[in-house]
Amino acid sequence: METKFQELKNRLLEVNNISSAGGLLYWDQSTYMPAGGAAARARQTATLRRLAHEKFTDPAIGRLLDALAPYEKSLAYDSDEASLLRIVRRDYEDAIKVPAEFTAEVVNHTSESYQVWTEARPANDFERVRPYLEKTLEYSRQAANFFPGYDHIADPLIDSSDYGMKATDVKRVFAELRQELVPIVSAITSQEPADDSCLHQYFPEEKQLAFGLEVAQQFGYDMNRGRQDKTHHPFMTKFSLGDVRITTRAKEDFLGDALFSTLHETGHALYEQGIRMDLEGTPLAGGTSSGVHESQSRLWENIVGRSRGFWHHYYPKLQSVFPEQLGDVPLDTFYRAINKVKRSLIRTDADEVTYNLHVMLRFDFELALLEGELEIRDLPNAWRERFEADFGIVPPDDKDGVLQDVHWYFGFIGGSFQGYTLGNILGAQFFSTAVKAHPQIPSDIENGKFHTLHDWLKENLYQYGSKYTAPEIVEQATGTPLSIEPYMAYLRTKYGELYDLES
Ligand code: ZN
Repeated sequence: METKFQELKNRLLEVNNISSAGGLLYWDQSTYMPAGGAAARARQTATLRRLAHEKFTDPAIGRLLDALAPYEKSLAYDSDEASLLRIVRRDYEDAIKVPAEFTAEVVNHTSESYQVWTEARPANDFERVRPYLEKTLEYSRQAANFFPGYDHIADPLIDSSDYGMKATDVKRVFAELRQELVPIVSAITSQEPADDSCLHQYFPEEKQLAFGLEVAQQFGYDMNRGRQDKTHHPFMTKFSLGDVRITTRAKEDFLGDALFSTLHETGHALYEQGIRMDLEGTPLAGGTSSGVHESQSRLWENIVGRSRGFWHHYYPKLQSVFPEQLGDVPLDTFYRAINKVKRSLIRTDADEVTYNLHVMLRFDFELALLEGELEIRDLPNAWRERFEADFGIVPPDDKDGVLQDVHWYFGFIGGSFQGYTLGNILGAQFFSTAVKAHPQIPSDIENGKFHTLHDWLKENLYQYGSKYTAPEIVEQATGTPLSIEPYMAYLRTKYGELYDLES
C-alpha cells in the first residue's frame, strides 16, 4: 500500500510541477512580458494545461485510487493520507467527467471572448460581445450538465470554486444579509458623505509601494518566500510553498488603490504561506475554497487594514512618508475617508457596506441566465433596472454596467461571484473567533503587532491547506457553521460609530 501511495504522490507531483510552471508563465505574462509575446504565450500555456490535465486524468491514477480505497478506509478521516486520497478522488472524478475536447473548446472560446471584451468595454459596445456571451452561457450549461443529479444547474459550477455550497444555501445566506444591509445602506447614504479629498492628491508611486510592502511584512508576509511586482489587475500566485507572490498597482493621484490592494493580496498570500511545509507538492497545499481564500484577503485588508486601531499606529508613519499631503490631515478625517460609503457603479471600487449588493446582483443574474429565465440580449436592460432598484442610480452606459467585470467574458457564467461575499462573511467570523480566544488582539493591532492574530489563523486555518472543505474548517475553527452574525455585528459597530444608522 505504501508503494502505491508513493506512486500516486509521485504522479501528482508531476501534475503539480506542470501546473506551477503554467502559473509562472501567467505571472510573467501579467507582469513583465512584452506585448509581442502574447500569441506564443497563449500556446505555451495551453500546452501545459493540456499536459497537466492528461497526466491527472490518466487511468493509472484511477486504478491507484481504487487500489488504495481499503487503505483510505483504514486511516483516520483527518490523517494527511486519508485527506489526500479523499480530495484527489473528488477532483479526479470531476476531471474525468469533462471531455478534454470540451475543455479545449472552452479555453479557445474564452480567450477569444476575453480579447473581444477588452475592445468592447472601452467602446461601450455590448452587441459585440453578445454572441460570445451567448456561447459562454451554452458552455456553462453544458459544463454543469456533465454532473447530472444536481438540485440547481448552478450547483456544479459553484462546487468548482466553493465546494460544499449549493445555490439554495447561497440564496438563503444572501437573502438574510440583504435584509440587514439594505436599511444600513439607506441610512448611511442619506447622510452627508465623508470627505475623501485627502486621498486624491499626488502620492509618488515608489513611496506608496514601499509603505504597502512594509505593512505586508509586519502582517507576517515572508519575503524570503515571496515578492511583489506591478501588474494591471492585482493577484496573488503561488509556485510552491517557498514562492508565494503578490502583485499590485498604484495610482499616483489616489492613495487608496495600491495600499489596500497590497493588503488584500497579502491576506491571500499569508494563507498560502501558512500551509504546513510537509504538504508541499501535494494537492492539499492550497487554500480550500474561493470563499475561505477571500475571507483572508478581506480580513487583512478591511477588518485589520481599515480599522481605527490599525491607523492609530500607522497613520503617524504614513504622515511622515507624505508630510506635505497628509501632515495637516487629522487621523479622524483620514479614517473616514478610507471608509467612505457611497452608492457607486463599480464593484471593485465599492466600500465594505455596498460591496455585497454588487455581488448579489451578479449572482442573481447568473442563476436567472442558467435557469433560462433571462436571455443574454435582455441582460443590459435587466442590469440597469436592477441597479437602479438596488443602488438608486442608473449606470449611464454598459461600460460601467454589464461590461465592467471580466468574469463572464473570461470563464463560465455561474459560480464566479458568490465567493466574494462569502469571504466578507467568513472573514468576520474567523476574526471574531480569534478575538474571543485572544481578547488582546485589538490592542495588539493598535500597537502594530499582528502575530497573535496571524498565529491563531495559522493554527486554526492556514496550516491545513485544503485538507478540510470550507464547511468543515469553518465549523472546526469557529465552532459554528457559516453565520452572518459576526459580520453584521462588525459592520454595525464600525459604521454605527461613523454614521447614524437609525436615521
Ligand atoms: Zn481576493
